[in-house]
Amino acid sequence: MPSPSRGEPPALTLRGVVKSYGALRAVDGLDLDVPPGIVLGLLGPNGAGKSTTMRMLTAQTRADDGEITILGHSVPRESKRARALMGVVPQHDNLDEELTTAENLLVFAHLYRVPKAERAEAVERALRIAHLEDRRDTRADKLSGGMRRRLLIARGLVHRPRLVLLDEPTVGLDPQVRQELWSLVASLRDEGVTVLMSTHYIEEAERLSDEVALMAKGRVVRHGVPADLIAEYAGKTVEEFPAGADGHEELERRAQAAGLPTRRTGAALAVMRAEEITEALRGELGRGDVRPSNLEDVFVSLTGERVE
Ligand code: ADP
Repeated sequence: MPSPSRGEPPALTLRGVVKSYGALRAVDGLDLDVPPGIVLGLLGPNGAGKSTTMRMLTAQTRADDGEITILGHSVPRESKRARALMGVVPQHDNLDEELTTAENLLVFAHLYRVPKAERAEAVERALRIAHLEDRRDTRADKLSGGMRRRLLIARGLVHRPRLVLLDEPTVGLDPQVRQELWSLVASLRDEGVTVLMSTHYIEEAERLSDEVALMAKGRVVRHGVPADLIAEYAGKTVEEFPAGADGHEELERRAQAAGLPTRRTGAALAVMRAEEITEALRGELGRGDVRPSNLEDVFVSLTGERVE
């Protein structure tokens, strides 16, 4: 894995970005920097404002306030130039059903102004990346769900973008297809492409992202390397205690008084940084089930909200 290019200007910058729908602030003062050459996961529950953010980046919708800069270009003022350097993979499949795999790619090579003499090679390259060489002449409506999704990604890569936006790339896909797409995203990063991926799947964000921005209610509440965020907030292990006769309140109060963050997990109370539980506190809490901590623990402890 190449190391992210620290010190270079960010591939993408958002400052104080706001988008309202009537009284609802879907995006509410969003600040975000995406360093070049990394996969950044924008993680949040449904309704957090991820898609709205993506739509502003692609100039499908206009921010009410704030600044957006993509690869040095201010959006929406210079969105045409930004767009030429950027690959966009939409959440909803909008392939042309009547065209073959290769024809779908060729149309986009044309739209993205790949010079005519280079288009055939650009299509071949995209087919290779998406492992669709042997489906080049298959009509889109005859492709499996996983192939279609790979083609959607390949289509966004046909002009060799330096930045790729993936909006919920694996939503609704079965686990095997998700794995295929994950390796596709990892290989993009290995080629030095910057990837901004929105997702509401914790596992996806944790596995694929060099950095993750946790989003809730239209803002980024925390941004960092997943392992660092987990170590900082949730430690190595989490211990889950079943509810006592008085519910969780007493357990929760004691753990928090000892400086350990807690979260509710179904009927149980989860105590984070369980490896720091002292003998004295152990006497008060009893013993629960220990498991490794994860990004979900961080998210819930910061926002009180759950993601998938
Ligand atoms: P996410 O992608 O994180 O699920 P969205 O950006 O889709 O979140 O939505 C953020 C909030 O904005 C939600 O409350 C959603 O209902 C609202 N919203 C999004 N798009 C529109 C729209 N076109 N009109 C009105 N409300 C919208």
